[in-house]
Amino acid sequence: MPMAAGANLASPLHMSILGIILSNIISRLPDHGKDGTGMLAADSARRDRHDDPGRLVGGLSAVTWRRPSCLNPMKAQPAPKKGFSLVELLVVIAIISLLAAMFLPALLSAKRKAQRLHCAHNLGQLAVALQGFVSDSHAYPLQSEGGMLWPLLLEKSELSGGIWRCPSAGRPSDIPQTAGYLDYGYNVWGLSPWGDPAPLGLGATEAPSPTGSLARPVAESAVTRPAEMLALGDGFRGGGGMIQDGVPFLWRTSGAEDYPGSTKRSYSRHQGRASVVFCDGHFESLSLDGLFVDTSDAALQRWNRDHQAHRERLAR
Ligand SMILES: [Zn+2]
Repeated sequence: MPMAAGANLASPLHMSILGIILSNIISRLPDHGKDGTGMLAADSARRDRHDDPGRLVGGLSAVTWRRPSCLNPMKAQPAPKKGFSLVELLVVIAIISLLAAMFLPALLSAKRKAQRLHCAHNLGQLAVALQGFVSDSHAYPLQSEGGMLWPLLLEKSELSGGIWRCPSAGRPSDIPQTAGYLDYGYNVWGLSPWGDPAPLGLGATEAPSPTGSLARPVAESAVTRPAEMLALGDGFRGGGGMIQDGVPFLWRTSGAEDYPGSTKRSYSRHQGRASVVFCDGHFESLSLDGLFVDTSDAALQRWNRDHQAHRERLAR
């Protein structure tokens, strides 16, 4: 139908194509006049030939074409849209939210894994320093000696400062910077309550020996099973369902205190796990429940250098 065909030709797409084609054609024509009137200048020239009879001399070269404004392709195209509509914006936000929901758990998991690896690397360095100390003195370092705590005793091995920071540890903001908060602890006491006269760890000094003298360093040979004896790890003191963090010990004891938020903070450090190294230097990631709640022989023995469970100490 003629009318329908005419309507199709008048669509913006057709007009655009037509405009582009005409633009190409026009650009190839001589462009002598651009007065925008849309008229062949020959008519005007004929009108004016009395004034300038020689203007048409030379035939077509004297005929000028004035480009009709309706054939300007820039005017035939619809004006470009600026910005986004509200619907488009909402769709983009929805897509971004969906992608974030899909990838955020994976990113968090990767971050936690990297933090565990970083912590394991730190403890690996500390384990090497501890083994170097034991190799030199044939005994484990005391908790403190000559006014120096065990970290300073291990610092003789030229450890870098960064390895003392667990990347997952969260020092509470209300603890002054001058107050002690150490990310890593040493199995000084073994399984024992506070003030136990015969601690079974690796380096207690405060508790007097049964004979009344101060405890002596634990000989290397006194550790029955180095591969099953806890040596160092994330610094926790726990027992009875409560865990204190930021202490220079790895200590299972009765009477542990739950400082504000310390138990919750401890469980969030490595998602309920603790990084530890054993006396032979190998690394493990153990659950906090396995360290401070489990009362099986296997869970209790690894605290004590004689590799006995010592259940009687749980009741104290
Ligand atoms: Zn850690």
